[in-house]
Amino acid sequence: MSQTFNRLLDAAISYLEALRAEGVHYVIVAPDTLAALTQPVQVAAPPQPELPARSHQGAEPEERIGLQRESTGPVEMALPIGLPGQPTGESLLNKPALPPQAKAAAFAELRQRVLVCTKCPHLAASRKNVVFGVGNINAELMFVGEAPGVEEDEQGEPFVGRAGELLTKIIQTMGLRREDVYICNVLKCRPDTPGQPTGNRKPTTEEMRTCLPYLIEQIELIRPKVIVALGATAMEGLFGKPVQITKIRGQWHEYRGIPVMPTYHPAYLLRNQAVTEKRKVWEDMLAVMEKLGLPISDKQRNYFRSG
Ligand code: SF4
Repeated sequence: MSQTFNRLLDAAISYLEALRAEGVHYVIVAPDTLAALTQPVQVAAPPQPELPARSHQGAEPEERIGLQRESTGPVEMALPIGLPGQPTGESLLNKPALPPQAKAAAFAELRQRVLVCTKCPHLAASRKNVVFGVGNINAELMFVGEAPGVEEDEQGEPFVGRAGELLTKIIQTMGLRREDVYICNVLKCRPDTPGQPTGNRKPTTEEMRTCLPYLIEQIELIRPKVIVALGATAMEGLFGKPVQITKIRGQWHEYRGIPVMPTYHPAYLLRNQAVTEKRKVWEDMLAVMEKLGLPISDKQRNYFRSG
């Protein structure tokens, strides 16, 4: 590759790193730039050193690679800087916590923005409600699922179906109330299932990536001490890569400064009624309770223990 190309690449990388150091996690990339980025690199001919009569035709590095601080036209997508959902990104706790009133106002403003979001036109067209999230915005514990189902879409609230009832039971068994925690999903709109009025499908990587900034803002404002990721898709949405939940559940992860406990989605427990599986989820919740410094009774410790 030419020296010019390498210099431009270095400049672009430096620029992105500088943005990240300033706390910017996403850059807006114009649709035609995205298309251009998928094309093979054209190596420029070596520069002609003796062309004094020509005006400077080279754009700044930012213009060449299409980076814009503000978008003036339709935006197709926002690309995370670095790996999508990278666990090593800047801590979401770095910014100082907002005073209660400002926090409530910021949360209300975020909610309003999400409720009218149409970044995924196909989902905006098929949804009945945007399912923003519910619970205590000062919660120490946040549950994150994958996406609303039919009942959640109907009611505009996450985890209200049978899986939601089971989640509520788990929360109560931990000695908490649903109102004590915050519950939401990676995706705020129900994944559409054209031709199947009641079916569910897993959100696509693109849908999750598009919606993730809203979840990040929720986490940033709530500042939970622990996040419980319910199921493999929730983990994939947060960390940006597929996981095998059977392999990673029960092991602490960290999402940008916040401990994350992956566990099975309650819907899985409804499908698989084996006590061994329930016990695994309960063990994960015991670990969460320990991390939060919640009291744990002998009865709680011994749930599902045989003999
Ligand atoms: S899924 Fe998220 S990003 Fe897509 S339209 Fe709904 S709120 Fe907007």
